Amino acid sequence: MSDCLFCGIVAGRIPAKIVYQDDQVVAFHDINPQAPLHVLIIPREHIATINDLGAEHEALVGRLYLVAQRIAREAGFDESGYRVVMNCNADAGQSVYHIHLHLLAGRHMTWPPG
Ligand code: 5GP
Ligand code: ZN
Repeated sequence: MSDCLFCGIVAGRIPAKIVYQDDQVVAFHDINPQAPLHVLIIPREHIATINDLGAEHEALVGRLYLVAQRIAREAGFDESGYRVVMNCNADAGQSVYHIHLHLLAGRHMTWPPG
């Protein structure tokens, strides 16, 4: 999708501080971090929202979580804790319509989220 911000990051058209990438996934620092560590983990494939996932994406979604686990561990937050969240549509606050897992760590977080 040529007009998608995160497809632009995947393609290298838009700069980002990339922390991990493989054949299916790219992870980069959020431009407006909400915690000392705030990384977005996205599929290279353009998928607009969770509602657009199908059975063919089952392994891909699992990989997003394994990449989050790896980044959290390498940053030293696996024991202290971290939050992984994906927003879907307006009420959840989704603002970029290319699915992304938020990895947040480095501070105490409250529940429920706002
Ligand atoms: P959402 O609100 O859709 O769950 O999350 C979108 C996230 O993308 C936000 O946390 C926002 O700060 C981040 N973001 C928006 N534009 C850019 C950008 O150009 N570069 C990076 N690295 N992050 C962005
Ligand atoms: Zn996209």
